[in-house]
Amino acid sequence: MPDVETVRGPVGPAELGRTYMHEHIFVLSPDVQQNYPDEWGDEATRVDDAVAKLSALAASGVRTIVDPTVIGLGRYIPRIQEVAARVPDLNIVVATGCYTYQDVPFFFHYRTPLVGELLGRDEPEPMVPLFVGDITEGIAGTGVRAGMLKCAIDEPGLTPGVERVMRAVARAHLATGCPVTVHTHPGSQQGLVVQRVLGEEGVDPGRVVLGHSGDSTDADHLSALAEAGFWLGMDRFGITLGTSFEARADIVVELCRRGFADRMVLAHDAACYIDWIDPEALAFQPQWHYLHIEQDVLPYLREHGVTQAQIDTMLVDNPRRILSGG
Ligand SMILES: [Zn+2]
Repeated sequence: MPDVETVRGPVGPAELGRTYMHEHIFVLSPDVQQNYPDEWGDEATRVDDAVAKLSALAASGVRTIVDPTVIGLGRYIPRIQEVAARVPDLNIVVATGCYTYQDVPFFFHYRTPLVGELLGRDEPEPMVPLFVGDITEGIAGTGVRAGMLKCAIDEPGLTPGVERVMRAVARAHLATGCPVTVHTHPGSQQGLVVQRVLGEEGVDPGRVVLGHSGDSTDADHLSALAEAGFWLGMDRFGITLGTSFEARADIVVELCRRGFADRMVLAHDAACYIDWIDPEALAFQPQWHYLHIEQDVLPYLREHGVTQAQIDTMLVDNPRRILSGG
């Protein structure tokens, strides 16, 4: 199996250990932050806070996280390098791609594939060489290579912008072999749209994580996607808006009972700091932190018949297979 790219460099697949496949560190709106920096406050304090939270995560036995923070979510790798250097027991895999539910960012709005064709570019979609460069050369001169590709589709469905990003991610995946994670909205069954579009592009579902599948309790829908070969991201433990702790845990129990432990990965989709949410409102989601799976979810799964072997499959074997392509 090939090595996996992390912030501190390549890591052998056997060293990945227990892995949470979807955890942010900082989710930021850079142009808002640059103009209204009061809430963010002191940079060193924010970095220290992240080091403390990720050190506690590493102490709980987690060896690797995938941070799918891409364009649209405020990715800034030098800050992640600073954090990673101070949490030596945790591997951090970073991602490339673009996060939108609707339109492409204005940077790409007028840089269309049509313009690329007029300019005679071999790859007319300008996002593709950017994503490929992040994976093969490294990100913004840091030397850190992306180990995951990311796009999104939410309730608005396959808007022209969402489709453009999804097809660009597919082409970058085919050029590099880098695995793909897709933010999905399972309540409106957007996984089926992902299946169609990525299928048209020739992407193997076995290289794709359908993120936020655990937002749904529709076991038949999720089973169909797992049977099609996709990985299911049961990756928002701690978020109880529109669902509950038990609903999130019970669907994992049911899919394990149906024999799909080898198609699921677990995470919280948490962050050390996310500027999308008023810090006072975060108090309404007290379990949304990096330790919730270890402290609350795994004991519940064990009590409800999920075996330690199935837990190890979801937390160790499946992430290793996804990230290393093995
Ligand atoms: Zn996320």
